[in-house]
Amino acid sequence: MNGATFFLAVNFIIAISFSLVFAVVSTRSRSRSAALWFAAGFAVASLSAICELLVAYTALTRFWAIGAFATVLGGMILLRIGIGDLYGRKSNLPFAICFLVACTILDVLIYNLPRGTVLHAFSYQTPFALVVLASAFAVLSSARRLAIDRALGGLLLVTGLHFFGKAGMAVLAGAGTTAKDYIHTNYALISQSSTAVLMVAVGLTLLSVLVLEIMADERSNSEQDALSGLANRRGFENGVKAAISMAPNVRHAVIICDLDHFKSINDTYGHHGGDLVIRAFGELLKTSATKTTTIVGRIGGEEFGVFMPNTTIETALIFAQALRAGTMGIRISALPPSFTVTASFGVAELAAGGELADAMRNADAALYEAKRTGRNCVKQAHPGFPPSGSIRVVK
Ligand code: GH3
Ligand code: MG
Ligand code: MG
Repeated sequence: MNGATFFLAVNFIIAISFSLVFAVVSTRSRSRSAALWFAAGFAVASLSAICELLVAYTALTRFWAIGAFATVLGGMILLRIGIGDLYGRKSNLPFAICFLVACTILDVLIYNLPRGTVLHAFSYQTPFALVVLASAFAVLSSARRLAIDRALGGLLLVTGLHFFGKAGMAVLAGAGTTAKDYIHTNYALISQSSTAVLMVAVGLTLLSVLVLEIMADERSNSEQDALSGLANRRGFENGVKAAISMAPNVRHAVIICDLDHFKSINDTYGHHGGDLVIRAFGELLKTSATKTTTIVGRIGGEEFGVFMPNTTIETALIFAQALRAGTMGIRISALPPSFTVTASFGVAELAAGGELADAMRNADAALYEAKRTGRNCVKQAHPGFPPSGSIRVVK
């Protein structure tokens, strides 16, 4: 086994491994179809290594040489389709098929041209360069702009350009006079290994994009409450901490809301009826919090938190009053028309540089006071809370 044959075997194993990994990743990824296109792309490209070996060791040289060209190009086109899927830059499938057929015919036509000439080398490599550069363009022009996306775009750009480099090298260093000679040249060795390295880098980067996406989805699922669709306690606290760190030198406001006599709602209308009320209240919070910076979450069974960054306590009190009124207006079609629900609210200020936990405790104590003094009301906690005299009733 000479060096180039060895690299072909390595290329084959690498491409098949990527194909399998992308197939597995597709079972967990939200970009399932992109992952499957990648799996198909690497599977088809892996066939080129077999074709190249058959070029060297069988009599059907021309057939396998063209097969090697078509399978690499086909694999790259499939990757382009997957990348288009992932980056919102859809490919035109009929055009892609026509491109593959036209380039394969071109490869047949140039087959008998002497190797290592400018015409042969560039006619052979340009289709690969164009497809990979089209992938680079799809990534770099998309709205996704994470560092990993930039890295993928840059890598695809380099990979696309390296095909022109290979054409230049074939002219300068010689690529064997026939397809059969090719595999025994130094050019074949360098050509195969440089492409292998770049395709491994592209494969790993694509894999990273999909894995990071899965991790982000897992994280957001673990921070979301399935019933209300709001952030859960963890998501709420993480969101609030991030908001505070972005504006550490201003005061913020926190509201804690709790549905009144919720246990009796469950007792009267069943657990499902209670769930509908929780969902309706969550919806009220979502639609009322028109400022995109406001963070709302379901922080307990029938308890909700609202964080209003860079907001005075007066504004938060007005907002809580609007929520109180809105709660009384909640109507649920599955429950009797006479059904009404109320909620109690505790509002606290988070002073610049203050601790979130203190503000939450203050808001909670104000909420407790709201419950104690009759429910369906808003109470404000003052700094230094809780001496009981510091609670102000806002009706
Ligand atoms: P208060 O006015 O003092 O807040 O009284 P309450 O009945 O609302 O409060 P309590 O803490 O006594 O009861 C809360 C109930 O909320 C108890 C629990 O079974 C119910 N609950 C918690 N989570 C859910 C949920 O996801 N769905 C439903 N349907 N009920 C829930
Ligand atoms: Mg309650
Ligand atoms: Mg409660």
